[in-house]
Amino acid sequence: MLIKTRSIALHRFAYSDSSFIVKALTEESGIISFIVKGGKRKESPFKGALDPLSLSEVVFRQNPSTELQFIKEATIINWRKDMRDSLMNLAIAQVMAEIVLRYAPQGVPLPDEFALLNEALSKLDSPTASEFIFAQWLLDISDLWGYHLDLGECMRCERPLTEPAADFFPETGGLICKHCLGVQQARARKDTLLGLWELRQTAKESGERPQKLSGRVFVENALLSYLRSHIGFLKEIHSLSWLQEVRKLCSAQ
Ligand SMILES: [Zn+2]
Repeated sequence: MLIKTRSIALHRFAYSDSSFIVKALTEESGIISFIVKGGKRKESPFKGALDPLSLSEVVFRQNPSTELQFIKEATIINWRKDMRDSLMNLAIAQVMAEIVLRYAPQGVPLPDEFALLNEALSKLDSPTASEFIFAQWLLDISDLWGYHLDLGECMRCERPLTEPAADFFPETGGLICKHCLGVQQARARKDTLLGLWELRQTAKESGERPQKLSGRVFVENALLSYLRSHIGFLKEIHSLSWLQEVRKLCSAQ
């Protein structure tokens, strides 16, 4: 069966002196491992189309009896230049790609994962990308994988929050209000709680996000640990340590 589909390359590694294996998230067929013969050569017809994080259109014959699929054509749709020009946005994109690669189910179509990742990468591909993008993607992917995080109410008294929560528990995914926290010390930082509140207040559908998210790094880390404690800690996300380095570099500027 010949398949033509949009595809986002998630990871690429050398297979021989001249070939690559590319693991890609395709819109039609989920995660597919492609063998790209001669892909390392300068005159390869695939050029940048299979560079990690590129959006392209690929044509391949799906052979169910083998794990590696031969790619026939790959045409670049968007190489995402502005995203690559930003060290931070590129590092975030790599973490998102790795999370999808490691945690998404294999061997099934993943149209929603494709749509979410493509949307987030497209938004990162701008010199004025909003700081909400990664946090929102973490919320959306948690939701998609069955771990909905309700930022709107206190998990103890179940009343709607009318101000930033007083504490957040990544293991259970709950926010609690000032009254329920009482005299106890909050474990979460004020910045994290304020950022989660902003995330809740600015409706995703309304399109334009403010550019700045309070306590951005803390919010992203809180949502990462929420996602990871629900999915399981078994698999290391290697690109996270690079993201930490980039955060240090960017905050030192
Ligand atoms: Zn409460």
